[in-house]
Amino acid sequence: METSVALDFLGRLKRTHTCGELRSSDAGKTAVLMGWAHRRRDHGGVIFVDLRDRHGITQAVFHEDVDPAVHRRAEEIRPEYVVAVEGIVAPRGEASVNPNLATGEIEVVASKVWILNESRTPPFPMEDDAGVSEDVRLKYRYVDLRRPHMQRNIVLRSEISFAARQFLHSQGFLEIETPFMTRSTPEGARDYLVPSRVQPGSFYALPQSPQIFKQLLMIGGYEKYFQIVRCFRDEDLRADRQPEFTQIDIEMSFPQRESVFEVVEPLIQRICEVAGCRVETPFVRLTYAEAMRGYGSDKPDCRIPPMHPVGDLLPDLAANNLPLVAIHVPATGAPSRKERDEIKAFGQERGLRVYDDVKRLERDFPAQMAAVRERCGAAEDSLLALAAWSGDPKGHRPEETVYQACGQLRLYCAQKFNNRHTLLDPKNFQFLWVLDFPMFEWDEEEQRWNAAHHPFTSVHDEDLDKLTADPARCRAKSYDLVLNGVELGSGSIRIHRRDVQSKVFAALGMSDEEARRRFFWLLDALEYGAPPHGGIALGLDRLVMILAGESSIRDVIPFPKTARGTDLMCDAPAPVPARQLKELGISIGRK
Ligand code: ASP
Repeated sequence: METSVALDFLGRLKRTHTCGELRSSDAGKTAVLMGWAHRRRDHGGVIFVDLRDRHGITQAVFHEDVDPAVHRRAEEIRPEYVVAVEGIVAPRGEASVNPNLATGEIEVVASKVWILNESRTPPFPMEDDAGVSEDVRLKYRYVDLRRPHMQRNIVLRSEISFAARQFLHSQGFLEIETPFMTRSTPEGARDYLVPSRVQPGSFYALPQSPQIFKQLLMIGGYEKYFQIVRCFRDEDLRADRQPEFTQIDIEMSFPQRESVFEVVEPLIQRICEVAGCRVETPFVRLTYAEAMRGYGSDKPDCRIPPMHPVGDLLPDLAANNLPLVAIHVPATGAPSRKERDEIKAFGQERGLRVYDDVKRLERDFPAQMAAVRERCGAAEDSLLALAAWSGDPKGHRPEETVYQACGQLRLYCAQKFNNRHTLLDPKNFQFLWVLDFPMFEWDEEEQRWNAAHHPFTSVHDEDLDKLTADPARCRAKSYDLVLNGVELGSGSIRIHRRDVQSKVFAALGMSDEEARRRFFWLLDALEYGAPPHGGIALGLDRLVMILAGESSIRDVIPFPKTARGTDLMCDAPAPVPARQLKELGISIGRK
């Protein structure tokens, strides 16, 4: 491409200050600044150029009567040109001080200017509020990354990673890398495969997580491991999922569950501090059963009060021995007829019978309803509704099905009234632990039990005999860290005994041969002195997203993929030349 202006070389020129640094106390100093031309204002004899780098913006001023040649050169500057300016730092006149800019008290009176590179007209302006489509932002991500809010997010991400490393090092954790090219060990999602050229027909898999490797590191005697690590899962993408994502992955030897919490709680506290938020420890702890009963979810949003089973107070309204649930959202005011109808319809679609006419219930059952209000702590100006299951019991844990539907209704109500009163304040950080998950989930399609966490998770000591006798009621030594209805991480105390691991595989319907074929090296390793161990993995992308106040993880990942798994900038995935496929012994069939 021909350049439209003559370009200067950087030569030996050295930047003396960043564009966010100069203050009135620097007046009189000579400064050399380098950055992008954010804006240029041409007032005839005077040209102002706002020079931007990741630290801020500084105004450079070019006076025609000081040096006409330099002024002429400044006329050539266009948005996003890369420019160096040398000049004297001068206080601005009182009238032109810009209180919105950290450097707003000064300007640099330019005596020299270098145009280091030009730029095509940017695909969108650099201002934060420019309503640009995400596809365009992702196609020109390198330009998008220059925008202040993206820079803030990426800098915050770096600071959070650094704080996590520092904290974990200070607690005696070792940062150890595990391979990216490994053996396929599906953990629930599909693997991304990498073909081997030297062993045609064989494949590496990209790890869905370093789970087995971190366990092997414990068996290898490293005691405390962490890694800020990329994981790869070939899943159908949802708004908050990426095919590759980052975890703060942690594993410890000889831990109680509490030992893991004692590391994670101050780690989270430190990370929040870096983001300018204070959180209190210890975090609330709820068992899975309590979370289900109170919130109808294993990711409770505790910014609004829990639900309460009230079947004992109003047995006539409960059905099939299943729970009757009171849902309460505070300070909503009386819902309108239309709002009540919508709430009712939402519940009905999920199999619930909703008693929304509280006035009528209070007329029919005054004493009982007073007791319901008291149990919920529901004041007169709150939304109160009762819900029961309307059909036959469903699933292996039917009461859970009811609670789940009620939990959805509860969130629906909270969101509905959120604008009347900020019920779901994004700055209200309610961290909590959910403990004692069920060990197994029933897979309707395959008609078998799956591991709810992963098959290396320990069972509660007293539930060991339920592994085959009553898998639905078998509890795992697993835990999730939850923030405002979002799962931030999960972990468990692992199985460290070969015999127990075999029993769990058997409960999952895996024969000895199959278990050996899929996990022989882990099974072997468990026979060579595996210590009790456990850990957790925290989702870094989601954590940064919430702390940055963003609603999409793509805004905290420098080069994310779209919901279809495409990198719009380099158009990956892409076909490869036939020669490359041949080398790998691969031929593409039709799907
Ligand atoms: N490896 C697990 C996961 O990625 C987390 C853990 O158990 O530490 O979900």
